[in-house]
Amino acid sequence: MQTTDLFAKRTDAMKASEIRELLKLLDQPDIISFAGGIPDPDYFPREAFTQAMQIALGQDMAATSLQYAASEGYAPLRAWIAGYMKERGVDCDLDNILITAGSQQALDYIGKLYLDKNDTALIEWPTYLGALGAFKAYEPIFDRLNAGENRMPNEIAQTAALAGGRVKFSYLSPDFANPTGKTMSQAERLSVLAQAEALDIAVIEDAAYQSLRYAGDDVPSILALEMEQKGDIDACRTIFCGSFSKTLAPGLRVGWVVAAKPVISQMVLLKQAGDLQTATINQIAVNHVARSVFDEHVTTLRAVYGARLQAMLRALKDYMPEGVTWTEPQGGMFVWVTLPKHLDGKLLLEQALAQKVAFVPGAAFYADGDTRNTMRLNFTMTDDQAIQTGIARLANVIQTALSS
Ligand code: PMP
Repeated sequence: MQTTDLFAKRTDAMKASEIRELLKLLDQPDIISFAGGIPDPDYFPREAFTQAMQIALGQDMAATSLQYAASEGYAPLRAWIAGYMKERGVDCDLDNILITAGSQQALDYIGKLYLDKNDTALIEWPTYLGALGAFKAYEPIFDRLNAGENRMPNEIAQTAALAGGRVKFSYLSPDFANPTGKTMSQAERLSVLAQAEALDIAVIEDAAYQSLRYAGDDVPSILALEMEQKGDIDACRTIFCGSFSKTLAPGLRVGWVVAAKPVISQMVLLKQAGDLQTATINQIAVNHVARSVFDEHVTTLRAVYGARLQAMLRALKDYMPEGVTWTEPQGGMFVWVTLPKHLDGKLLLEQALAQKVAFVPGAAFYADGDTRNTMRLNFTMTDDQAIQTGIARLANVIQTALSS
């Protein structure tokens, strides 16, 4: 008997990405890869973490750091997060904060908390691949979150009812989105909120890249805008997901959720059932590092990544053939390239790999996989020189495809 035949029906929707095989080739040393989505390890705050771990494992702390702890998370870290949120217009108590194993776990819990089979999640088109993966496990229908466009709430609700459920939340990443790099204006954020009010649904604000701004002015988070309207976090429908992965280090798996207390209490139950708690020692280490170097470290990252982003935008301008367009992000990790309609990112990737350059074809970021003429370029892992060379190679591949 094959036990694989016994897998639950809902696992049918979980498919390995078809580009994964191709991206395995990235291990070759001479490939310039714009395919990743990860921070540059040269800029991990290694010394600060070494010190923090020493403190965590010292005589005074080890009985705590190596022990089980509360599912809600380490209180001093939650207090630091409350300060971070307050500086950004969100006044909340520790009871409004849950520490998660990265923001990815928060997305899973949010799917588990809200989505019955055939319920609708409104998402950006394209959106973060990991959110699609997390939500898909709960068998929802995905519909487009058209910020700023005129689709009446009752039409969206009707479509959801016809699909056999109701709209439960909109999910979006308003700052420097993965994959597009785009940032929503305050007016667009307010319109997402207004739509959520009209539909009476939750808003999931994925703020994974919030601190990585290299140009322009901060735009208040959706939660901060809602706080301005309602004055009380417990009256808010926005669920804010934060992460230390992009600012400090992803390997520790520490993220957080800020939301109304009844939402957090229910998520704490999911956390208890899921993994009891986020690793105590990691939370203690992140608390120390955040308190000692967060602002200064983020300033360094902004300078380094900001320069790389500029290098990539310059190289795109210098090398890309006519008909190719791209976003000009003010932060984050990605530039999103749109190719002439008849080109297919996945086919191009095969040719690009032969020329020793890699990217992620855009189709995977669309819930319907339908749009094929896009690609995501990461700029945080490559220095100026490699960006120049890599974009020149990529432009050649596109030029060749256009002329054939
Ligand atoms: N949201 C977005 C938009 C992301 O790009 C990522 C990581 N790629 C995550 C959430 C998850 O990050 P983590 O679990 O490491 O916090």
